[in-house]
Amino acid sequence: MELMYSSTRNQNEKVTASQAILKGLANDGGLFVPDAIPALDVSMEELAKMSYQETAYAVMKQFLTDFTEEELKTCIERAYDSKFDTTEIAPLVEAQGAYYLELFHGSTIAFKDMALSILPHLLITSARKNNVKNEIVILTATSGDTGKAALAGFAEVEGTKIIVFYPKNGVSPIQEKQMVTQKGANTHVVGIYGNFDQAQSGVKAMFSNPALKEELDKAGYQFSSANSINIGRLVPQIVYYVYAYAKLYANGVIGKDEKINVVVPTGNFGNILAAYYAKNMGLPIGKLICASNENKVLYDFFETGEYDKNREFILTNSPSMDILISSNLERLIYRIAGNDAAKNAELMKSLSTIGKYEITSEMKENLKDFYGNYTSEAETQAVIKDIYEDTGYVIDTHTAVAAGVYKKYKEVSGDTETKTVIASTASPFKFTRSVMNAIDAKYDSWEDFELVDELSKIGNVMVPNAIEEIRNAPVLHNTVCEVDEMEKVVKEFLSK
Ligand SMILES: *Cc1c(COP(=O)(O)O)cnc(C)c1O
Repeated sequence: MELMYSSTRNQNEKVTASQAILKGLANDGGLFVPDAIPALDVSMEELAKMSYQETAYAVMKQFLTDFTEEELKTCIERAYDSKFDTTEIAPLVEAQGAYYLELFHGSTIAFKDMALSILPHLLITSARKNNVKNEIVILTATSGDTGKAALAGFAEVEGTKIIVFYPKNGVSPIQEKQMVTQKGANTHVVGIYGNFDQAQSGVKAMFSNPALKEELDKAGYQFSSANSINIGRLVPQIVYYVYAYAKLYANGVIGKDEKINVVVPTGNFGNILAAYYAKNMGLPIGKLICASNENKVLYDFFETGEYDKNREFILTNSPSMDILISSNLERLIYRIAGNDAAKNAELMKSLSTIGKYEITSEMKENLKDFYGNYTSEAETQAVIKDIYEDTGYVIDTHTAVAAGVYKKYKEVSGDTETKTVIASTASPFKFTRSVMNAIDAKYDSWEDFELVDELSKIGNVMVPNAIEEIRNAPVLHNTVCEVDEMEKVVKEFLSK
């Protein structure tokens, strides 16, 4: 049976999986969601023996039902190969009694690689299946990590161009260097004088501009999105939760059907939504623990049932989570409203007009699977230092936000026994300065690459390729623009 996808704002807009991947966002501005979340159809005994790639096939085939076995297996093979520096793809590391699921072994050393190494292949396959003749233009707003991971995924992929917008003063120096040194004639990188939410809104506005769409079509182009709103990003992210559970089971850490908790450092709500989908597939997950940094709009939402983005935007040392509009939350809102597109559309309208909305008490009841909290900047630093001094394991700032919230969860709930997986979303080498400053203030005056080498020494881990590569790489992109010039910049790139 084919699984269809519909818009979170209009149940009548129905498309296949490949069409949803191609379109990115629905015509009405909604997000595509599967009409039902399929139940896992392989047993834990089988999953326990599977490689990452085999697990990926077992999970993804249930969502992408219009892909043939050969198409999907080819996409998986091309994505999860030697670009990853470990054959396990997503290894688990135990520290202080929790299991860190390291999602940063891909080419840009952050978890975005888990999905963005496969998305270009899913997209090209989808274009072929739907007889698309236009060149695909990937338009992406990034808070730092998506941008580089998307650039790396799409660089030199035939039939595609990619344009990435990032907040000029809102990403780490290493994140910026990674992006502006990107090779590939089909890649474009633009800094904007604004924050991530403005970049995201600008991109969304271009997607839902019919005049622009027509103009591009005439020129032989069409937009698609590599942002985490694309269902082709979300589905590959479900895989690693299934994989992690199966590995814990295979290693005897948990027994049959034993529930685990999952802690996810959250920004756009994509990664934790994937865990929620995994739970809805039947994976025994207890609590979904949503960890925010000082931009704690999600924590407040879980506390009060009101989502309110009208607040100060704080630049933190976990910049990939500096987000006030968590786009993927819309998929959860739709679901807790009982798949009610009209209700969801009403709330999203309220968000775009007055910047906030409040869910009903029935909807709030449906949030019981979630626990939300946040970690302050000072607490995040203390967590990094504590885990390092206690175990020698060095975690990045985003992962530390999750570890900090997990600590609070244990204190508040008393649930200290349930085995817990913490999504480790970036290598500490991606945020070297913040990480090293947390470990010892003396590092404050050191140069970036001195810190990299020192981290390698104290953490006893090799400097990842992604960092070695940019040591001496030339800057290839230097476009900067105002928020209201984004469309102009896109047209300029495409007219060359
Ligand atoms: C993107 C990102 C996050 C947030 O993930 P969401 O899916 O947007 O919630 C957390 N940590 C890192 C390192 C990231 O790059």
